[in-house]
Amino acid sequence: MSERRLEGVGVTPLSGVGTVIWYDQEVDLPEPPAPDEVDPDAEHDRFETALDAAREELQAERDRTAEEVGEDEAAIFDAHLQFLDDPQITGAVEDAIDEGVPAEHAVREGFEGAIEQMEAAGGRMAERADDLRDIRDRLLRIVTDSERLDLSELPEGTVLLAEMLTPSDTAQLDPERVAGFATAKGGRTSHAAIFARSIGIPAVVGVGEQLLEIEADAEIVVDGEAGEVVVDPDEATRERAAESRDVEIRTERVETADGEPVEVAANIGTAAELEGAVAQGADAVGLFRTEFLFLDRATPPDEDEQLETYVEALDAFPEGRVVVRTLDIGGDKPIPYVDAEEEENPFLGTRGIRRSLGPDAELFRTQLRALLRAGAEGDGELAVMFPMVATVEEVDRSLAVIEDVRAELDEDGLGYEMPELGVMVETPAAVFMGEQLAERLDFFSIGTNDLTQYVMAASRQNEAVAHLHNPRDPAVLRAIDRAVDAAHAGDAWIGMCGEMAGDPELTELLVGLGLDELSMSAVTIPNVKGNVVEIDTAEAREFAEQALASETRAQVNELLEE
Ligand code: PEP
Ligand code: MG
Repeated sequence: MSERRLEGVGVTPLSGVGTVIWYDQEVDLPEPPAPDEVDPDAEHDRFETALDAAREELQAERDRTAEEVGEDEAAIFDAHLQFLDDPQITGAVEDAIDEGVPAEHAVREGFEGAIEQMEAAGGRMAERADDLRDIRDRLLRIVTDSERLDLSELPEGTVLLAEMLTPSDTAQLDPERVAGFATAKGGRTSHAAIFARSIGIPAVVGVGEQLLEIEADAEIVVDGEAGEVVVDPDEATRERAAESRDVEIRTERVETADGEPVEVAANIGTAAELEGAVAQGADAVGLFRTEFLFLDRATPPDEDEQLETYVEALDAFPEGRVVVRTLDIGGDKPIPYVDAEEEENPFLGTRGIRRSLGPDAELFRTQLRALLRAGAEGDGELAVMFPMVATVEEVDRSLAVIEDVRAELDEDGLGYEMPELGVMVETPAAVFMGEQLAERLDFFSIGTNDLTQYVMAASRQNEAVAHLHNPRDPAVLRAIDRAVDAAHAGDAWIGMCGEMAGDPELTELLVGLGLDELSMSAVTIPNVKGNVVEIDTAEAREFAEQALASETRAQVNELLEE
C-alpha cells in the first residue's frame, strides 16, 4: 500500500513513527427522561459528587505534573480547578438541574454557553475553550461512570490520535513511550501544543476530519516539522522519522567550523518553558513574548508578579542573556481586559509599541518598572526590546519613557539596572530606517513572521496567500540583508526570532547573511547547533550572496537543495 499524507499544523519539529491508538473522550449520553421523572435533589447530589471527584483528580494530576514536568505547566490545572468553582459555569448546570434535566445532560448544556462565548471572542481566547471542554468531559465521564484510557500507561510506540487533546491529557503522555500524537482540531498555541513542545513529543494538530478516518492499529508517522501525518509510511519515511529524535544536545555555546560564534537561543512565552529551553541547550532567551503573561486572566499581572517572572527567567540563564519583548498586543493577540477598539485591519492597526505609547501607556510603564528592577536582581543579562516599531520617533519616545521610569525608581529608592535596548525588525519601515535605529539602540531582532507578511503584503493567517507568506522569498532575504548591514554599521548586534530562525534548512543561509544570534522554539536548538558547527562562514557568505541575487523563490529553493 502506498503512503498517504494528511496535512496539519506541526507543533514540535520532531517526527515519530508508531501504531495508532484512538482516544475517544466523547461520552454518549442516552436520551434524557422527561423532566417530571427527574429528582432534582438526587441530580444535584450527583453533580456535587462529580465536582468533588473532579477536584480530587485535578489536584492529583496537578501534583504529578508539577513533579514530572514543572510547576508552571502544573498551573494549567489551577485554572481548571478555578473553573470548577466558577459560579457562572456551575450555576448554569444547577439551573438546568432545577428545570428537571439530569446531571449529565445539565453538564453538557451548562458548559455549552461558556464554551460558545469563549469561541466567539476569537484568537487565543477561543483556544481556552478547549480548557472548558476538558473540564466538561471530565465531569461527564465521572457522572456517567465511564472508563477512561490511562494515557500514562500507553504501550511503547503508540501514536495517539484524538479529535482533540486537552492539556490534562497531554500532560499525562510519557515521551519515552509515546511516539507522537495528532489531533483533528487545535492550533499551534493551544495548551496541548505548548505541552507537546515542552515535553518534546512529536505532534501535529488541526489535521481536520480526514484524521478521523485513520484506523486503530494503523502504522503512521507524525511529522511535526512538515506538519504532516503519514499513513502507511514507506520504509524511507519510517526511517527518517525514527532518526529525527536522535540529535545531540549541545549545552555549550557553538561556533562555525572556522571559529565564528553564533548564539543559539530559545523563544519562550512563559516561565514554564525555561526548563525545556535549558534542557535543549539554549545559550540564551532570544525572545520572551510577554503577552502570554497577560492572557487567560481577568486582570493584568502587577509589577511584583512580573518582576518575579523576569527574575526567574534571568536566573535560568546565569551566563546568558534574556531578551524580553514588551507587550505585543493587538493583531491576533487580543487581551480581554485591555480596552481595544475593534479595527478594520488589526495587523495594520494599533499593535505592539503603538499601543504601549498610546492606550496601554500604564501597562507599559508597569512592565518597564518590573523589567528594570529585574535587571538588578536576576543573574543573567537583561535585554529589552520593543515590538512593531516603524519610526525613529517611536524609539525616541520609548527611550524617554524608560528615562522617566528610571527617575521614578530613583525616587522610590528601588534598585534597578539598565538593560540592553533593542527593537524587533518586523516592519519594512524599520528595515529602511535601520541605520538611524541602530544609532539609538544596542540590538535588533528580526521577526520574520511579521516582516514576511508586511514585505510580501500576505497575511500570516490567510491560507489563500500562504504561498506568498514565505521568508525564503528573495524580497524578504534582501530585507534581512539590509537590516543586518544597518545593525552592524551602527555597532548593534542582530538576531532573528521569527520561525525562520529555527528552520534547520536555513542555518547556513542565515549565518551567511551575518546574523549574530538565532532564536527559536527550544526543540529545534539541537538541530540548528548541529548545523552551525559544520558551517564555513566564507562559503556561507557566498551562498547568501547567490540567494540574494536570486530572482524567484524557486531559485532560492534550488540553491538550498544543492
Ligand atoms: C515575528 O513576527 O516574527 C515574531 C517573532 O513575533 P510574533 O510571532 O510574536 O509576532
Ligand atoms: Mg511579530
